[in-house]
Amino acid sequence: MRTDVLILGGGPAGGMTALLCARAGLAVVLCEAHATLPERVCGMYLCPAGVALLERHRLRERTGPGARLLRGMVMVAPNFQRLVTQFPPGDNVPDYGLSLPRPELDNALLGIAREAGAVIRMGMRPAKLMRTTGGWRATLPNGEVIEAKLLVGADGRKSATARLLGLTLPVRRSRIAIHIDRPARIRTSPLGEMHIFDDGVYVGVNPIAPDTVNFSIVSDPEALHGVTAVNLINDRIARSPGLCELIASLPADAKPGVTFPTNARVRAAATHDAALVGDASGYIDPLTGEGIYGALWTADELVRAVTTDWNDLPAALARYARIRAQRHRAKSVLCEVFQSMIRRPRLANSVGWLLARRQGVANSFIGIIGNSYPPSRGFLRMAQQAFTL
Ligand SMILES: Cc1cc2nc3c(=O)[nH]c(=O)nc-3n(C[C@H](O)[C@H](O)[C@H](O)COP(=O)(O)OP(=O)(O)OC[C@H]3O[C@@H](n4cnc5c(N)ncnc54)[C@H](O)[C@@H]3O)c2cc1C
Repeated sequence: MRTDVLILGGGPAGGMTALLCARAGLAVVLCEAHATLPERVCGMYLCPAGVALLERHRLRERTGPGARLLRGMVMVAPNFQRLVTQFPPGDNVPDYGLSLPRPELDNALLGIAREAGAVIRMGMRPAKLMRTTGGWRATLPNGEVIEAKLLVGADGRKSATARLLGLTLPVRRSRIAIHIDRPARIRTSPLGEMHIFDDGVYVGVNPIAPDTVNFSIVSDPEALHGVTAVNLINDRIARSPGLCELIASLPADAKPGVTFPTNARVRAAATHDAALVGDASGYIDPLTGEGIYGALWTADELVRAVTTDWNDLPAALARYARIRAQRHRAKSVLCEVFQSMIRRPRLANSVGWLLARRQGVANSFIGIIGNSYPPSRGFLRMAQQAFTL
């Protein structure tokens, strides 16, 4: 089979790329390794900028019909002081995020891509993938051969495509993430929660339903030496009054999902004939709340670049790689600041105390996390609000 675009990976990055390519009139084949998409280790929070992107592409109703609106975030400092914030409206960005169950989101995107004309091959990880003159040739496990002009790696943090293209870089700081959905002890409010502990471990809680929370914990891998994932989670619940109130300790036979590493680095998001989108193009840390939005916007940016310049793909891909690198740099700097802050509990407590004094500043801060505006503009807003009586 000959096609314009071959995409590897059927997560939100692959699904979004496939559907936007198909809508733009390109022939596209997507191969997903799993026959049925599995449960994901994911907080399932979509930031306000991600909601805006879904709305812009008329996908909001189909991708999150039962999604819960998230009005803001509660930040809990190492001294357990709570800071309640609300997402501020941004430029064409709503003042709410969404709790989006997965893999329902991923399946919805694949379904819409199929309707738009994309060919989706589930349970197909190419057995062989090679460059040809003018493109790529993939041989699927069933012997089918697919030839394409453009290859897109949407195969996640451990991207085989990035490795094949020689773009993978070693990760700088590898943390481990553990995830589980749990019944809530109390009726949950429409606010995400981020609990920071005094040793740099943090817990994200997403109230995916009034009676259910999605619980993720991120720590250094050493925290799991000689301790089970269940014990690690129960220890953090026991330490935190807020978590204790929200959820009960896990039973010994609970089965949380574990993933490692929680970040990925590449030297560039494209070569002259291939591109990486979503986590495959680099992923900083779950703390940034960037993942699903990153999957969606990189797909959007890539498809815009290649459809504008399909006859000069190397130029289009170079432009995409530049934009990806610029935005990645801005978020990386921000994440480094957060990471060094959460590893200094006294500093994290002081920042929490200061933000609690000025609600407007705190809301602007959460707007940066929600990608409601670029970090530089967010810090300017914070400064303006700090000096406004
Ligand atoms: C603990 C934790 C919590 C998180 N919480 C949030 C959150 O609350 N909000 C948020 O926005 N993000 C969150 N993220 C990040 C988010 O889950 C990812 O950024 C997002 O899933 C990236 O989508 P993707 O499509 O790039 O990759 P993935 O979702 O990983 O999909 C990649 C797909 O590629 C397939 N694949 C792999 N190799 C091949 C191959 N060779 N051929 C074919 N298919 C292949 C895989 O089977 C998979 O289906 C979290 C991450 C972690 C670790």
